[in-house]
Amino acid sequence: MGKLSGKYAIVTGGGKGIGESIVKRFLEDGIEGVAVLEYDVKLVEKMVSNLGEASDKVLPIQCDVSSEAQVKTAVSQAVERFGTVDILVNNAGITRDSMFHKMADEAWDAVLNVNLKGAYHLCKYVIPIMRNNAYGRIVNISSVSAFGNVGQANYATSKAGLIGFSKTLAKEGGPKNITVNCVAPGYIETDMYNNVPQEIIAEHMKLIPLRRLGQPNEVASAVSFLSSDDASFISGQCLILSGGATT
Ligand code: NDP
Repeated sequence: MGKLSGKYAIVTGGGKGIGESIVKRFLEDGIEGVAVLEYDVKLVEKMVSNLGEASDKVLPIQCDVSSEAQVKTAVSQAVERFGTVDILVNNAGITRDSMFHKMADEAWDAVLNVNLKGAYHLCKYVIPIMRNNAYGRIVNISSVSAFGNVGQANYATSKAGLIGFSKTLAKEGGPKNITVNCVAPGYIETDMYNNVPQEIIAEHMKLIPLRRLGQPNEVASAVSFLSSDDASFISGQCLILSGGATT
């Protein structure tokens, strides 16, 4: 019996990076079923093909989380297959970095529409199910950039918004036994971070007391904990996963 046994989850952006690690960790922790919503569903299908027996527990769904219509359909597909949703992880996220005075409107809108409005869409269709069940665990993937980062006004705003959103939903969902938390990772070794130039990575490393980048599985273990009943009295929190770096 794993700590997520009997539970059904939705994870967005779960085809690679941190999201893929979360899906794999949920499977290790005994999840009954996980719907993986992904912009490029082939990423999830490729992951599933290497999972062996556990592949039956994963439902890949093509979904752009910035589209309300696609999210509505995707949540229906997950419920049709699994019957319910106990756990929601809003992980899908993008960056379009530049100094604010050079930032294109398109870059602002794209980041806010995926990172913040995407989570809004998922919560809009999942929270009524959780309220009906009087049970739910929501984990939103924020970032230490929420506390301010040069070149990321759009991204920082989206990630700070997720913190306020989570704290509010925690207050509203508490009476229905729904917990809502954030994790705010620092520098995690994924495709997203690998786009950062080497000289900037070297500067970042000096600020991290553990003197290394984080790994996706280290975020996944915190997400699995917050999604489980081990964390049943934790809500409205933002857990910083930064190797000791302060913001
Ligand atoms: P990756 O880019 O490796 O993975 C993100 C996944 O989300 C990709 O599979 C991507 O698909 C998918 N995605 C992007 N846009 C959409 C969309 N509109 N609808 C559905 N899926 C989408 O990033 P990480 O794993 O590094 O990041 C995961 C989360 O963690 C993000 O929210 C990120 O902001 C956050 N984070 C990451 C940090 C890091 O250092 N890596 C630090 C702090 C927070 P595709 O590739 O096809 O676009």
